[in-house]
Amino acid sequence: MADTIFGKILRGEIPAHKVYEDDKVLAFLDINPVARGHTLVIPKEAAETLDALSDDSAAAIGRVLPRLARAVVAASGATAYNVLQNNGAGAHQAVPHVHFHIIPKHEDGTGLGIGWRPSKLEDGAALAKAIATRVGP
Ligand code: AMP
Repeated sequence: MADTIFGKILRGEIPAHKVYEDDKVLAFLDINPVARGHTLVIPKEAAETLDALSDDSAAAIGRVLPRLARAVVAASGATAYNVLQNNGAGAHQAVPHVHFHIIPKHEDGTGLGIGWRPSKLEDGAALAKAIATRVGP
């Protein structure tokens, strides 16, 4: 996998405002926050997208995400928040190293804007089966 800006942060080659670190996870403030408190949570493992992440790193991130969300909300005074995780350029991923955004939603309206266009579920049974049979061990 190609080196990324987050790899440089992990190696200490460029600065970041760190808020949490353990042996598998680093969290730091986003340099261009969508809202005050916007925080990124990354695995130290160099995986480009979520589907490429090891179970160990995924578990380590899952373990700390709620704790980090509580801290971000408490410190920023937000009333709500979104957790966003983009995979692939077509899905708005700019940095090809897995990262979770914790984005506070503030009463002044700052935070994540979502364009959500729901449709009607078609062929649910077949689609669910197609996905279920592809879930690995
Ligand atoms: P995404 O579009 O999901 O790939 O988001 C990448 C995020 O990384 C953006 O919100 C950027 O503002 C953020 N970002 C890029 N470079 C840095 C950096 N050096 N330090 C902190 N955040 C960064």
